[in-house]
Amino acid sequence: MNSDNKFDVIVIGGGPGGYVAAIRCAQLGLKTACVDEFTGKDNKPSLGGTCLNVGCIPSKALLESSHHYEQLNHGLDQHGIKVSGVKIDVPTMIKNKDDIVGRLTGGISGLFKANKISSFHGRGKLLAGKNVEITSADGEVSSISANNIILAAGSRPIHIPSAPIDNKCIVDSTGALNFDKTPKTLGVIGAGVIGLELGSVWSRLGSEVVLLEAQDTFLPAVDLKVAAEAKRQFKKQGLDIKMSARVTKATTKGNKVLVEYEDASGDHSIELDKLIVAVGRRPNTDNLFAPEAPVELDERGFVEVDEIWQTNQPSVYAIGDLIRGPMLAHKASEEGVAVAEVIYGEEPEINYDVIPSVIYTNPEIASVGQTEQHLKSAGEKIKIGTFPFAASGRAQALGDTNGMVKVIASEETDQILGVHIIGPQASELIAEAVLAMEYSASSEDLALTIHAHPTLSEALREAALAVDKKAIHIPNR
Ligand code: FAD
Ligand code: NAD
Repeated sequence: MNSDNKFDVIVIGGGPGGYVAAIRCAQLGLKTACVDEFTGKDNKPSLGGTCLNVGCIPSKALLESSHHYEQLNHGLDQHGIKVSGVKIDVPTMIKNKDDIVGRLTGGISGLFKANKISSFHGRGKLLAGKNVEITSADGEVSSISANNIILAAGSRPIHIPSAPIDNKCIVDSTGALNFDKTPKTLGVIGAGVIGLELGSVWSRLGSEVVLLEAQDTFLPAVDLKVAAEAKRQFKKQGLDIKMSARVTKATTKGNKVLVEYEDASGDHSIELDKLIVAVGRRPNTDNLFAPEAPVELDERGFVEVDEIWQTNQPSVYAIGDLIRGPMLAHKASEEGVAVAEVIYGEEPEINYDVIPSVIYTNPEIASVGQTEQHLKSAGEKIKIGTFPFAASGRAQALGDTNGMVKVIASEETDQILGVHIIGPQASELIAEAVLAMEYSASSEDLALTIHAHPTLSEALREAALAVDKKAIHIPNR
């Protein structure tokens, strides 16, 4: 193998885990290659993985567009603004989303060039001896090798036999980002993060949306009080969320899909224009490594790694959606940086206890740390402060007063153990709580911190004050 094909590090996968790992490796002076197989809508290589191409970014672009539409239609009356004749041009909205994706994925290519990262387009497979076989879209096979390999192949949607994807009427999250018009009726299997975000997009644009959720608990990982408030708000917005609903069969007939499902009240069938299957994601481990380089998987099919993200194969690491932990872009990126530094000889750490999580619905739902129900079942003694956005001057001015902030602290030490926000700008507000928890702050630390007035962030401070019954703008009970 000549020196052009020999690297210090090869990263397989160019998503937020892989591309960030590659950039950090290059910054550290390591000769780095990245192999990614994603092909964009224009049939060209498109770095950025699920997140930039068919995940975080395009979904947030559509959420923003649909939010503007919704606000113009229903959100401005109280401000005395009368708007009529509002129309949505779905192809333009989709083009805007595609343009955003194009700019950001192009930006990653630019960063790769600037950092002198060798970018290979094709499917990577780990062979013995840390060789990587690359198969291009037209079937051409080549090979490169390195001293270290980072597996960052990410995940893909789980498909279920009762609702086979036909990309016509039955789609997964990728198809749901590309409807050419607003479906009159839309079903979503799974009332999880994707179901709620994409269900919200099309509901705001006029679809009648029904969500069919198999479990009997709504958003079980979310704080109970927040989940209850979210469900109330979504119902008010017209999302029809059916719990304990099991889809038995979905069949496309012409331009319609017939969905048969059962719940506690019996068997049902509904005819819909589109059906989104959003029942979770699974790691992309198929054909990722040859039998001669057997990488160990855990019982759920994720790549098994130790505390420095190393697999059972020496100097072969894995990060992001491919391994345990929340399937979140920022978690993948953090691991990308950490693994690059491990390879360079440093001893980085990730504080998995303070990874924020956000659902970008309206209201937004954001959290960090533990929930009340989790702490109580673990026998922790806790104190809780909550503050409603209805008591926030800024939220009143915005006309966006639904929701609240909840701060949970240890009764013994006052250390903040969890912060849960449902309401306006929750996705931005949570950052302060993450920083506070990263520094092991107490609720008193947060309560003593001066916040500008009038801001939404004052609600976080008031919730921290409420932990010790010192909130100013609500009665303390
Ligand atoms: P990925 O982003 O999946 O990237 C893996 C890359 O590797 C892909 O390009 C893939 O094509 C490529 N690949 C796979 N196998 C091979 C192979 N053998 N050879 C070469 N290349 C290969 N997370 C958030 O934090 N915030 C959000 O708002 C958010 N919204 C989302 C919305 C949707 C609709 C979806 C689907 C996901 C969303 N996520 C969000 C989750 C987020 O996208 C993932 O957690 C994140 O992309 C994982 O990063 P990764 O680098 O591990 O993998
Ligand atoms: P999810 O795990 O959030 O939700 C899937 C839902 O489908 C669950 O409520 C589950 O009970 C339900 N379900 C499973 N099988 C079912 C069936 N047969 N019938 C009916 N319901 C069924 O998964 P998702 O929404 O597909 O998202 C995948 C991952 O992507 C998430 O884990 C999340 O980490 C990530 N994501 C994050 C964001 C964000 O950070 N804002 C946005 C989208 C996706």
